[in-house]
Formats: sequence, C-alpha cells, structure tokens
Amino acid sequence: MVSSVETLEFQAETRQLLQLVIHSIYSNKDIFLRELISNASDALDKLRLESLIDSDLDVDTSDLHIALEVDKDARTLTVRDNGIGMSRDDIVDLIGTIAKSGTAGLLEKIKEAKDAGAAQSLIGQFGVGFYSAFMVADKVTLRTRRAGTDAGTQWESDGEGTYEIQALDGLPVGTSVTLHLKAADVEDGRADYLAEWKIRGIVKQYSDFIRWPIRMATEQTDAEGVTTHGIDTLNSMKALWARPRSEVTEAEYSEFYRQISHDGLDPAETIHMRAEGNFEYEALLFIPSQAPFDLFSRETKRGVQLYVKRVFIMDDCEALMPNYLRFVKGVVDAHDLSLNISREILQHDRQIRGVRRRLVKKVLGAIKDTQAKDAERYAKLWTQFGRALKEGLLEDTDNTEALLELVSAASTHDADKTTTLREYVERMKDGQDAIYYLTGETRAMVENSPHMEAFAAKGYEVLILTDPVDEVWVDQVPGFDGHRLQSIAKGQVDLDEPADGDEEAGAEKARHEQDFAALLPWFATTLSEQVKQVRLSSRLTTSAACIVGDAHDMTPTLEKMYRAMGQEMPPVKRILEVNPTHPLITALRSAHEANAEDPALAEIVELVYGGALLAEGGDLPDPARFTRLLTERLARGL
Ligand code: ADP
Ligand code: MG
Repeated sequence: MVSSVETLEFQAETRQLLQLVIHSIYSNKDIFLRELISNASDALDKLRLESLIDSDLDVDTSDLHIALEVDKDARTLTVRDNGIGMSRDDIVDLIGTIAKSGTAGLLEKIKEAKDAGAAQSLIGQFGVGFYSAFMVADKVTLRTRRAGTDAGTQWESDGEGTYEIQALDGLPVGTSVTLHLKAADVEDGRADYLAEWKIRGIVKQYSDFIRWPIRMATEQTDAEGVTTHGIDTLNSMKALWARPRSEVTEAEYSEFYRQISHDGLDPAETIHMRAEGNFEYEALLFIPSQAPFDLFSRETKRGVQLYVKRVFIMDDCEALMPNYLRFVKGVVDAHDLSLNISREILQHDRQIRGVRRRLVKKVLGAIKDTQAKDAERYAKLWTQFGRALKEGLLEDTDNTEALLELVSAASTHDADKTTTLREYVERMKDGQDAIYYLTGETRAMVENSPHMEAFAAKGYEVLILTDPVDEVWVDQVPGFDGHRLQSIAKGQVDLDEPADGDEEAGAEKARHEQDFAALLPWFATTLSEQVKQVRLSSRLTTSAACIVGDAHDMTPTLEKMYRAMGQEMPPVKRILEVNPTHPLITALRSAHEANAEDPALAEIVELVYGGALLAEGGDLPDPARFTRLLTERLARGL
C-alpha cells in the first residue's frame, strides 16, 4: 500500500529537550537500551493487563517478550516487543510532545544549572526515555500497531526538528524501534552496540530484573569451528522485590530504583519488606536523595506502583501512600487482589488500608533511623523532604507523634544548626512549660522581630519557623511531649510574672498598670481602625511597641498566603503592646497628661503603630503618609 508521508514538527520544548539529551546529558550512553527495554516492558505489562480485563480484546499473549535484533550490514539495532503498541495519535502525543507538567520550568532550570552534574540530576527527573535513542542513533525508525486495531504506523526522525509519520500495513501487534547507529560509535569499538558482549553486558547491568524475557539471536563457535545459532534469554527475569533481601546487592537496588524513578542518583533509603499471613504482599520502597522538581506542584503523582502477583496494575497508587509521602518511590506487589481492581475500590479496601498504614510506619521508621544514626545525612534528607513531611502533621493524625519527632527547625539556640523538638525540650529552662516559636517569612525577619526581645534577654530558646506550612501545623498539633507549642507573637506572655514572694516586681507591675490607666484607652481609641486592643507588654526590652495576636488569630503571613490564593478575608485586627519603660512611651504618657487634645500626639501614635508593623516585617497600609509624618517629625526635632 502506498500511503502519504506526513512531516510534523516536534513541539518546541521537545526539541529543546532532544538537543539536551543528545548533547549534554548522559555521560553514559549505554542507558539508551535500558530506556527502550523499559518502554517495551511497560507495553507488555499494559497488554497483559488489558487482555485480562477486556476478554473481547483479541490478542495473543502466550509469548510476550522483548527481542533485540542486530543487523551488522545495515548497522541497526532493533528493540521489538509484542506489547500494547501505539495508534497514530498516541505517537504524536507521546513521542512528539512532552505532555508532562512543569517541563518548561525544568528546562529553564537545566539551562541555568552551573555544572553538568547538576544538569544531569535535574534531567534525570523526567522520563526522557525514548529520546535517549538519539544519543547513539542518527536516525530512529519506530513501527507500531496498537492491540485491537488494524492500522499500523511508521514514525521516523533524525532527532532534529521534525519527524515523518505514515500508515503501514501488515505490522504485527506491538512496537519495534530501530536505531540506525552512529558510525563513529560502532567503529570506536567500546560503544559498538552491534556487539553481542556489549548488549549482554548492558542488559545484565540494567535490565536483569525486567519480568519479560529479553531475547537475542546468538552465535557460538566451538573448538572445531562449528558455529551454532540459537536464541538466548539475556535476563534472569526475577522480580527484585520477590527475592530475599540477603540475595539482593546494593547495586541491584540502586539500578532498580533508577529504572522506576528516572532519577540519576542513588536512593537515600531502601525499604524492602514482605508480609505474610492472610494478606500477603511484598514492598520495595525508596526515599530519593533529592526531591523531584515538581514535589510541590499540584499535579505531582505518588511514586508507588501496584502489582498483583507480578502483574503491573497501576502507577501512582494513592491508596498505598498518603499525599505527604508522595516522594517515596517503589513497588508493592499484593498477592490477593483482583487484577482489574479499580482505584475507587482500592481506596476503600480494608486490607489495602492496613498495608498503607504499615508502609507509612515503615517509611517514617526508616527516616527516624537515619535521624538517630547519621545527623548529616538526616539534615540532607530533611532539607529535601521536610516541607512535605510537615504536611503530614495536617493530614495524618495517626502519626503526629512520629512526625513531630522528625521535625527539624531553625532555632535561636544555634545560628547554623537546626534542632529537633526533643532536643529543644531537653534544653528547656526550669519552670518553662511551653515550646516557644515564631513564624515569619525569613529567618532574619523572625530574629529581628520585637517579639523576640524579652525571650532573648531572658535566655528562652525560640524556634524560627519559616516554611509556609509551619503557619498551619503549629496550630493543629496538640503539643509535643506534654508541652504545648506557643507562638511568642500570640496571646499574653508572662515571662515577667513576678515570682511568688517577689514583692518588688509585683509592686512595679501594679504601678505600671496605674500609670498607664489613662493613656491606654486613649491609645486604643486613636487606633480603633487598626487594632482591637492596646495593652502593656512584658515581651519588649528595647522596642517601643509590637503587635501580637490572640491565641487563635491568624498570623499576618497566613493572612497573606490566603489572600495570595485568592481567598477573600476580612482584615484581622490584632493587639498593640507598648513597652512601659521605653522613653518614647513614657514621654507620650506625660505629654498626654499635660494636654490630651494635642493633635501631634495622635500622629506619634500612628508612627508607633507603623514602626511596630515594619519591625515584624509587615506592610504599612499607607507608606507615603507614614514617611511624611516621620520626616516632618524629624525635621522639627533637629
Ligand atoms: P516514559 O516511559 O517515562 O513515559 P518515554 O519517553 O520513555 O517516557 O516514552 C514516552 C511514551 O511513549 C511512553 O509513556 C509510552 O506511552 C510510549 N511508548 C514508548 N515506547 C513504547 C513501546 N515500545 N510501546 C508502546 N508505547 C511506547
Ligand atoms: Mg520510558
């Protein structure tokens, strides 16, 4: 049949990515074969699953396999599978486009990455799989027929700007990818992908545990010079997770991890377990050493795949891993499930929920172990995944205790090192019952906030929490180790509560209350638009004033976050606390006593309020007015 050839262009981002793959990404070109085999294996999984679910699908699944075919004369290597295949539209969508979200942003980051190593670990984060063929081939021909359809398609490209696509009759179900190998590599010898030893070596190293046979025609010449031809299966086909732990090497775990995660790095933690009893399963889970670029994008998928008795069922199995552990990669093979189980049913399955609970405990346990054993490694892990783990404090109340043990936070105790809550509690002063913290946008803002003054002066340690999620979890957890978490910018602070019998301090406090009895109500009336109360502070030593919230008030950062998400919010009125020993406040009191009607006083009150807002990193409602009042006052003072 003569069919017309269509020439199509790669989507712009795909083209950029192709160029990156070909020219700069992998120092190790061998991995192209792993990628193509992995695609073939996925295609076989999909066909097997589809045939099990759809009994009308008329396909032969009796000999599902991958074949590697070498043609030395034509200098081609073909990876063939009799899997699910692709329709013409599939090809355009899957091969001509990168549909993955976040790709554009990632490409930017890759371009900005300073060194090749950084670029490589970024690129490793997405499935560039198929394109890796162009590292070794100057032309790639893909022929495919989707199971259940008659129309075959040929796709061909040199990896530059365009590809050609045409209909092709008479193709078997499945896909063949033919690489027209670069002459230079073949001649070089070391990269001769036509050589049997080379192909065997790569398959053994990267694809040994692929569950489908990877076959190749081989030649063997014996001592008498007689050559026999045969077909060899190159891989052992043993599912790694089904093997006993003691029989799996670190290198095999790492290779398996790379295969399922597309990550170029080794995993930080490997968890391999088997459950026996009335619901049997095996799980092989990994914590990556680096967070994926899209960990916080809405579309991020969970990394755990579900198998049933070695049959791949689904990626992104949300029933097996909570959202906050979405960075965990791996495989769960459950023995007693139906193959066509749906996501909905899984979500409600009691057994599966039990598995999930157990897996979560295992993962948190592994993280805890790292924390106990290796502080440096733990610090790295926390930098990568701490923010996600803290989401668990909102989602997973069953594990609040365990998660709180993991929390690492900056603290006034040490400028360079984070602390755990446990370490904080061990350092607590006699009589201190709460764990003090302050949230804010940056460490500097929090440290310089006036709220800190009395705590610093009295040597109380304060946790410095600057992740957006910190604003939320601190309000939701009941406390840690019997100590509540107390924001130093919320509620009353009684650091100065006179000790029993300390009559002098008690008398001073009473005197302050009396001295300011007239000033405070006037202050409050003057600022009635801005604050709900004005009171004396015991948290200030050098600042004149600060703004605090009631115990259940939203913090300004949280208010800003909600607004940024487009939520309508009535402005939250907070409380102004003034320092009864500050010269500005005492002078204001005297001036007010002398002439309560003086209009200049109201302006000073406004300045005091604005200063307190600025000091905590807040935004002035009217910066121009504030600046004018301030400069006029300064000019008069000179
Ligand atoms: P990934 O495997 O991460 O999705 P690839 O670039 O390796 O990325 O492949 C892109 C897509 O092309 C695959 O998801 C799959 O849908 C399709 N594909 C590639 N190779 C095959 C194949 N041999 N059979 C069927 N589909 C394939
Ligand atoms: Mg792939």
